[in-house]
Amino acid sequence: MTNSDKIRVRFAPSPTGFIHVGNARTALFNWLLARQKGGVFVLRVEDTDLERSKEEYERNLIEDLHWLGLDWDEGPDIGGEFGPYRQSERLGFYHQYARELLEKGQAYYCFCPQEELEKEREEALAQGRSPVYSGRCRNILLKEAQKRLETGEQAAIRLKVPEEGLVRFTDLVRGEVEFDLKLIGDPIIVRSNGMPAYNFSVVIDDALMHITHVIRGEDHISNTPRQILLYQAFDWTLPVFAHLSMVMGQDNTRLSKRHGATSIDQFRREGVLPQALCNYLSFLGWSPPEGKEVLTLEELVKLFDLSRVNRSAAIFDYEKLYWLNRQHIKLLPAQKKLELALPYLQAAGLVGKDITSDEEQWLSQAVELLLEGVDKFSDLPQKFSLIFDFKPESLDEEAKDIISSAAARQVLRAFVEKTSGLTDFNYDLFARITGEIKKETGIKGRDLYHPLRVMLTARASGLELDKFIPLIEDGAKLNFPRRIKSSLERIREFARLMHLESERQPV
Ligand code: GLU
Repeated sequence: MTNSDKIRVRFAPSPTGFIHVGNARTALFNWLLARQKGGVFVLRVEDTDLERSKEEYERNLIEDLHWLGLDWDEGPDIGGEFGPYRQSERLGFYHQYARELLEKGQAYYCFCPQEELEKEREEALAQGRSPVYSGRCRNILLKEAQKRLETGEQAAIRLKVPEEGLVRFTDLVRGEVEFDLKLIGDPIIVRSNGMPAYNFSVVIDDALMHITHVIRGEDHISNTPRQILLYQAFDWTLPVFAHLSMVMGQDNTRLSKRHGATSIDQFRREGVLPQALCNYLSFLGWSPPEGKEVLTLEELVKLFDLSRVNRSAAIFDYEKLYWLNRQHIKLLPAQKKLELALPYLQAAGLVGKDITSDEEQWLSQAVELLLEGVDKFSDLPQKFSLIFDFKPESLDEEAKDIISSAAARQVLRAFVEKTSGLTDFNYDLFARITGEIKKETGIKGRDLYHPLRVMLTARASGLELDKFIPLIEDGAKLNFPRRIKSSLERIREFARLMHLESERQPV
C-alpha cells in the first residue's frame, strides 16, 4: 500500500501507565531510524482498552518523549495526513475493514458466550493442549448471523485462518521465524462490544498509515503471525518486522520496580539527563561500531544501525547508565548545571525560591565543584551537606580516628591558637598558618592536613581545602535559608567541643 519509498515507522504506546525504559527504547530505535533515513516517525496512541487508557497517561507519555528529545512528524497532538492518530477515534476504519472481510467470507461472526470459551480454554490447558478456538461458529452464514444480531444477540468477529500450514517471516533482529497455524486458531478481530482487538487495529492502522517498518518489543512476536494473516487476507504488502529483545534486570528477570527506577518519569525526577538516558537506551540491544560510548542524539542518529541490533537479552545496568550520566553532566555548560541543580537544592530547603545574583554566582561555583562524581542531580543535596551541615558532635569513626593522635591534637591546638585573634579568614591565611605549623612542629602532609580537614568539615573526606575554604567563606556571607558557617565559626565550635582551647598555654 505504500506510495513512496520513504521509511515510515511508528511508536504505538497504549496510554495505560507511565512509559518505561523498554518502551522508550522502542520509541528511540524507531525515531533513530526515521531521522537517519530522512523518514517519517509517527506517534499513534493505542487506547482501545477503554478501562485502562487514560488521557493523563497520554499527556505524560507525550511529555516524556519530548523530554527525551524525540519528536514526531505525525501524531495525535499535531495531526497528519493519515490521522486520526488515536485508535479510539478510528473505530469507523476498523468496522469498515471488518465488514470487508465478512463480506469476502474471510471473517465470521462468533456467538460463543465468553464463559464457554473460557471453559474450553481451561480444558485445553489442563490437557496440555494450546487453547485454540474450536471453530464452532465458522460455518454460520453471514445472512443467518445478521438475523441473529438483529434479534439482539451479541457476537465477536473472527478471522478465518487456514487450519494447517506455517506462517513465516524474516525478522530483522531474530532472523527466520515461523509459527504453526495449528496453534493459532481463528483470532478475534472485533470484540462483541465493537472494539477492535489489538492485532486487528494495529494492522489496519499500520497499513493505512503506510508503515514500512514495525519495530517493537519481542513480547509482540507471537502476535505477528496473526497480523501477517490479516495482511494476507487484505492482500496488503507486509512491513519489515524487527522485534527487540526484552529489557531485563541483572538477575535475568524482566526489569521491574524491584530492580530500581523503570519509568522515564522516575529517571527524569532522579535527575538523569535525557541525553544520557537516550545514550544508554541505545545500548539496549545495539552497540556503537567504534567503541566511543558517550554519544549525543545527533551522533546516535549518524551511527545507529538497525541491522546491528542483536537478539540477546538487553540487561539494564544502572551503574552504566549513571556513568554515562556523569559523562554527559560534565559536558554541560555551567549555567545549565545550575539550572538543573536548583530545583533539587530548593526542594531540600537549602536554597530559597528567589535567589540574588550573588547567591547565583556562588551556587554556580558550588554546583560546578560538588557535581563532580555525582550520579544524578537528586544526589546533589546530599553532596551539598558538606557545605551546609557542620556537625563536629557526630563525627564518624574515620574522622575520630584522624584527630585522635597526639600529633593531630598538636596541629589542631596550634591552628586554633594561631586563628584565635582573627576576624576574617581565607585560603591564603590557611596556607600561611599551616606553613608555620609545619615549620614549628615538623608535622607535614596527611598528618598536617587531615586533622584540619576534619576540623573544618567535620568529615574525613570531601573537597580539596583550597576549594572548600573559599566556598564556605563566600557562602557564609550569603543569606541562604540554612546559614553556612564560616571557617572561623567552625574552628571555634570544634575547639570548644574538643577542648582544644583549654589546653592552650597562656601567651
Ligand atoms: N500498543 C502496543 C503496545 O504498547 C503496540 C505494539 C506494537 O507496536 O504493535 O505494546
